[in-house]
Amino acid sequence: MSKYIFVTGGVVSGIGKGISAASIGRLLKNLGFSVFMQKFDPYLNVDPGTMSPYQHGEVFVTKDGAETDLDLGHYERFIDEELTKRASVTTGKIYSRVIRKERRGDYDGQTVQVIPHVTDEIKHDITKAAKESGADIIITEIGGTVGDIESLPFIEAIRQIHSEHKKGDVVFIHTVLVPRIPGSDELKTKPTQHSFKQLMSQGIKPDILVTRSEGDVNESLRKKISLFCDVPPEAVIQSKHVDLIYEVPLVFHEQAMDKYLLDLLNLKPKVSSHHEWRDMVERFKKADKPLEIGLVGKYVQLHDAYLSVAQALMDAGYENGAKLKIHWIDSEDIEKDGPDHHLKGLDGIILPGGFGNRGIEGMIMTSKYARENKIPYFGICLGMQIAVIDIARNLCNLKEASSTEQDPATPYPVIDLMESQVGVENVGGTLRLGNYTCHLEEGSLAKKLYGVESVEERHRHRYELNNDFRGQLRQGGLIFSGIHEDLDLVEVVELKDHPFFLACQFHPEFKSRPNHIHPLFNGFIQASLEKRGDRKQES
Ligand code: GLN
Repeated sequence: MSKYIFVTGGVVSGIGKGISAASIGRLLKNLGFSVFMQKFDPYLNVDPGTMSPYQHGEVFVTKDGAETDLDLGHYERFIDEELTKRASVTTGKIYSRVIRKERRGDYDGQTVQVIPHVTDEIKHDITKAAKESGADIIITEIGGTVGDIESLPFIEAIRQIHSEHKKGDVVFIHTVLVPRIPGSDELKTKPTQHSFKQLMSQGIKPDILVTRSEGDVNESLRKKISLFCDVPPEAVIQSKHVDLIYEVPLVFHEQAMDKYLLDLLNLKPKVSSHHEWRDMVERFKKADKPLEIGLVGKYVQLHDAYLSVAQALMDAGYENGAKLKIHWIDSEDIEKDGPDHHLKGLDGIILPGGFGNRGIEGMIMTSKYARENKIPYFGICLGMQIAVIDIARNLCNLKEASSTEQDPATPYPVIDLMESQVGVENVGGTLRLGNYTCHLEEGSLAKKLYGVESVEERHRHRYELNNDFRGQLRQGGLIFSGIHEDLDLVEVVELKDHPFFLACQFHPEFKSRPNHIHPLFNGFIQASLEKRGDRKQES
């Protein structure tokens, strides 16, 4: 039987509730427990797939093809597990199921109501996650802030779960902001007290409070929170500011949060292996070699739109002793100012995913610039399509080459809609989503980096390389180093005679973990470090 931890947030949103939840997951894994994590998002969208990156940041994709909140990326990176569609629940998803059932007549003439029908549907997702994952502990984060109208059904559902289970099976953790009065050092606990009251009024008494603050929540503040929020002082855990998010589990561990939590859950640690994570953090913190990577995209004003890419880059940097500086470059600025102005002097260039045609020409200029100036280039999804267009136009004399996405009327669609999508399992909507197998070609850089025959990688895109042009592209020097054999789709391309020019149709950033750096990110960072070294020697 699984046990449940529910993580709620109070006072304000955006205080790192997801990182706190993920850190608790890591601590429990360090103690030998299997963990499944889940996020409830109270918005009415069925999933964030249709939301603008500016609204929502990155859309994280699970192995079974669910488009989800970016917090799931934190969960996977911290607990080092692949999650499933069960990990992402939205109000939109819940309501559409309830309404579908109502139309089918499943409710047998009853009046369909938030309680019990909506709350039952939410509880179903919690227990289903437990059953399917078989994990010892399910950690569920409730998005938004306690007191929001939207989150009421979720809070009510977890209250019911608590009352239906015996003591020790369900723990509530509440994360709050302890603000500082501007111009002084004084921290205020009043918002925490109010948030606690709000939660109590909804039938939930938190067992642990995690406080986020700029200053130190000292002993006397801890006592005060303990007194007003009816928990012992050791249940007040400070989430102090850290340089590296991966330190948070260690910060919690120093305050014996894991011990306190296990006592509440009536569990004994199976093992105690915090050292691996600690060693990793220490190693990462020592990284100091400078490395400058350009990230060329169209949503660069909002860094969260590229969260997993940036994290995978940083982590790969740390693992190689480098402290990366990411230059966020808007591809439209490259169109305006020319590539030299923005890309000169960079050690490596990454071109991550994106949708629509804005900024495409600047990206094609980027690929050409990286190719001609022998700067390591790593293209992801759209970044592969861009590299293919650049090579088609500039090395294969297909001057009109483009993507159907960019110009539906183009006479030379290098990248065309994938016909074979129809009937392919695992394809949600019109996108190719989730894990697909990619076979790696002998002798290629991709094969060398991965060191295996085939890999499973995650997808989220509509367009595929048009196989009609493979011959011409090959003549232009393009190597097809990763192929989906059954569907005959190109998944990885690369160039010879270049320090690193590799691009993939999938999203490797979703599978990179701080403790298991993705081989392609690793290869790209190593090539970029070499490039920097070579340049230094030249000057
Ligand atoms: N827009 C492109 C497509 O739909 C690339 C998508 C992406 O980069 N994730 O195929």
